[in-house]
Amino acid sequence: MAEPVLELDDLTVRFRLKRGELTAVNGVSFCVRRGETFGLVGESGSGKSVTARSIMRLIPEPPGEISRGRIAFEGRNVLDMSDAEMRALRGRRIAMVFQEPMSALNPVFTVCDQISDALRTNLGLSKQEARERVVELLSLVGIPSPRRRLDSYVHEFSGGMRQRVMLAMALSCNPSFLIADEPTTALDVTIQATILELITSMIDRFGMSLIFITHNLGVVAHTCDSIGVMYASHLVELGGKRDIFERPQHPYTVGLLNSIPRLDAQARYLTPIRGSVCNMLDPPVGCKFHPRCAHAMDICRREVPQFREIAPGHHAACHLLDRG
Ligand code: SF4
Repeated sequence: MAEPVLELDDLTVRFRLKRGELTAVNGVSFCVRRGETFGLVGESGSGKSVTARSIMRLIPEPPGEISRGRIAFEGRNVLDMSDAEMRALRGRRIAMVFQEPMSALNPVFTVCDQISDALRTNLGLSKQEARERVVELLSLVGIPSPRRRLDSYVHEFSGGMRQRVMLAMALSCNPSFLIADEPTTALDVTIQATILELITSMIDRFGMSLIFITHNLGVVAHTCDSIGVMYASHLVELGGKRDIFERPQHPYTVGLLNSIPRLDAQARYLTPIRGSVCNMLDPPVGCKFHPRCAHAMDICRREVPQFREIAPGHHAACHLLDRG
């Protein structure tokens, strides 16, 4: 088994807002090994993106605060690193692809300027060397006539092409770890498939590790080796792809799986998860999923279930499991 590259241990992130305090990530622990693709799945507001931004130390403080836990990248706790060490880590060792390229890319600089900035700062390339490298990168991510597009602005690209530019920027300094935060959500279905394929081919080609964040379990089915399912700030299930798809243990994971359209399904209708995600400023006591869970018991309304190993490498947090 490959060695761990990234280890999160009891990560807890809080935000102090005018309307009150909320815990966006609550005691999350998982590990990503070298060359592994890890899917982090859950509805909007479950804490996936805050977890990813915490790894990059991109949580604005205040109002946010990483109040507990450890994030070890290649054995070093990123929470103990200086700002200069973090700048060296971002882009060169860990890179991130964001959901909405228009908000992550700068509309007043050309594509070449934006990508070559990282190349010149991190790798010390000259202006001309950086320009040539940008041509290579744009070609790598499938942008046609890359030399002609160098001096284009972001608004001159389509949604799928902007996401390719983001990927080129993320790959520019040869990182060993990529975090893709809902990279296909804003795109239409056919472009989603192309971008997904592009990301997985880059991961294979460069031997990178990947955290792929999505609200759609169907998307990670073909891309990820292992999967973590988050609900209302907690990691509720964690396991290999087969554990999650063939032996799901948490009712929320089962609900997500039942919500995926399947061509071979007997049923005509999908089974949605009833209700909606709780208000994180005033979450329910006990298991946060209990207002939506068909199996909720009295204990679920009082006590938070323990996150524990139920089979080698397969963890879940549910009182049903404590009762066999
Ligand atoms: Fe449902 Fe209770 Fe399990 Fe929560 S702990 S998922 S409410 S059975």
